Formats: sequence, C-alpha cells, structure tokens
Amino acid sequence: MVDSEVLDRVKGCLLGGAIGDALGYAVEFSSLERIRVKYGADGIADYELDPTSGEAIFSDDTQMSLFTAEGLLSAVKPGEPLDFDAAIRSIHLAYLDWLETQRSRTARTDEGASRLMREPKLFRDRAPGTTCLSALRSGNCGSPEAPINNSKGCGGVMRVAPIGALNANLSDAEVVRLGAAAAAITHGHSLGYMPAGVAALAVRRLIYAPTGSVVETLRSSCADALALFADDPNVDALKSLLDKALDLAARGGDDAENVAAIGEGWVGEEALAIAIYCAARWENDFSRCVVAAVNCDGDSDSNGAVAGNILGAALGASRIDAKWLEKLELRGLIEEIAGDLANGGRGRDR
Ligand SMILES: [Mg+2]
Repeated sequence: MVDSEVLDRVKGCLLGGAIGDALGYAVEFSSLERIRVKYGADGIADYELDPTSGEAIFSDDTQMSLFTAEGLLSAVKPGEPLDFDAAIRSIHLAYLDWLETQRSRTARTDEGASRLMREPKLFRDRAPGTTCLSALRSGNCGSPEAPINNSKGCGGVMRVAPIGALNANLSDAEVVRLGAAAAAITHGHSLGYMPAGVAALAVRRLIYAPTGSVVETLRSSCADALALFADDPNVDALKSLLDKALDLAARGGDDAENVAAIGEGWVGEEALAIAIYCAARWENDFSRCVVAAVNCDGDSDSNGAVAGNILGAALGASRIDAKWLEKLELRGLIEEIAGDLANGGRGRDR
C-alpha cells in the first residue's frame, strides 16, 4: 500500500516536470526580450496552448523522462532489490524506443509494445536534442567510465527525475550513481552526467525523506552527491555554480537577473543550477518557480522541466495550481507511471 503523501509527491515530481517543460517549450528558442515583447513585462506566465488539440504540449524532456521511468520499471519488481547494470541496460533500451518515436510517426499496436510505444501522442517531434539523437543512433550505450562523447548538454539532467522518484531500497550513493549513469548513456562529459546524479538525489530526498525545508534538502543533496565525485576535475566548477544558485535564492531580487547570472541552461550544470535557484527561491510557490525558470534567454523548457520536477517533488501534485494540470497533455498516462514508481514497480504486467 503506497503512502498517499508519497504518491502525491511522486505525481508532483512527474507532473511538475511536464508542466515546466510545456510552459517553457513555447519559448524555448526565444530571447527574454522577445518573450517580453510577446507576453508583456512579466514574461510568459501561462500555457501557450496547442491550436489543434487545445492542450499544453510538452517536449522531448518529458518524453524522455517517461521513457526513463518505463525503462526503470521494466527492470524492477516491487520489494525486490534493483540490479544496477540491468536497470541501465533497460533504460538504454527504453531510450532506443524513444528514438523510434522520433523516426516513425506511427504508434505500435501490437500487444508486446509498451504503453508508451502504443501512445500516438508520444510519436511527435518536439525539438529533440541532437546529442541524444546521435548518441542513441550510434547503437552504443555510454557510461561515466566509457564516455560516448564529450557533451555536457542538459539532455541528461532533464530526464532523470523518475530515478529519484522510484520507491526502492536504494542507498543515496546508488541513486546518485544511477542518475549519473542514465545521463551518461548519451552525455559523456562529467558536467553532463554529474548534475543528473545531484538531481536524482534531490528528488529522492524531497519525496522520501522530507524535512520541511526545501532549501536545506537541496543544499544537503548537492553536498552529498558531489562528495561522490570528489575525484572529478569538474566537480569544483559544479559546486561553485550550485552554491551561487543557493546564495542568489537566499538573497532574493529579480529572478530574470539572477537566472542570467547563473547561465542559460543549455548545459547540464546550468540547467540544474537554474532549477535549484528557482526551487529554493520559491519553495512554497510552484507557479512562481516554473515561471522564473522559463523566462530567460536560454533553454526554457529544460530549465522549467528540472525546476518543476524538483519543486513538484517537494510540494506534491495537490499543491500545484489546478490550472496547470487541467490542460496538460497525457496527464493520465503521467499519473499512471507516477503510481507505478511510487509502488516500486508495475502493479500488473503491461
Ligand atoms: Mg525540450
């Protein structure tokens, strides 16, 4: 029996990421100046709905997060220990399924296909990252030990929240390693995969070990996750950027200026730091958090996705304004997957 508060936070994490992604996707390639010309001085603060479906559509960030979840769920059973290597192989296979959704425009109908591969709305081009596409097309599976390339794009950190959201008997170090390894499947630079380890641990603690202070949990997650990468030559750069994000959040001031001082978010360390800034700054206000994350010159949808994952995990779906949930595409599917993650595995064979 899943604790209802845990389930609420797991749903908040997945839905929150999809909401931030969908909000930001409308302005992913717009400068802040252009965003303000179009939406006013406060920038974009509500969905730009898809004219055909009338829904808020999300991008590759959420697509790939769902495939991370599905890969993970294929490798675990409720109450049983997780086999690390099997989990990574399974996540890689799920990413190859996602690659198939970008090559084909037709959902599968056969019984053997996963629920994601039977969903026509996932067979859509939503500005997928070129590093993810090229790494997966190679057929190889990268790892921190055998980097597939030298990319530190944010395509790793944007998709690993389900790893922290899984209800499994894992140590903190295992969660960090799994998050980093899932990112390293496609991103070989340590600033591409270390942020994913940090994000997975932050989500994990916010859902399964809440202390009441989001800021303190974020601070301890950053410190403890980075301690596991102490030998990495880039760990100090990541640590300084995360410290800067937490300091700016504590100081307050103008979000757009603070986000710009951190970066744009196209690379892993900046997307994580911007998300942590927004979640720490607005720890009790989901809407202000995602609005702060997407109104920038940079990678609005990924910044929004990671910020939404983190604060959604902290607050739970019940503290996300209904206006964000009502128009979100595939909300039912996202909630079903969240239920399986909270359950520690699929409730029944699919
Ligand atoms: Mg995207």
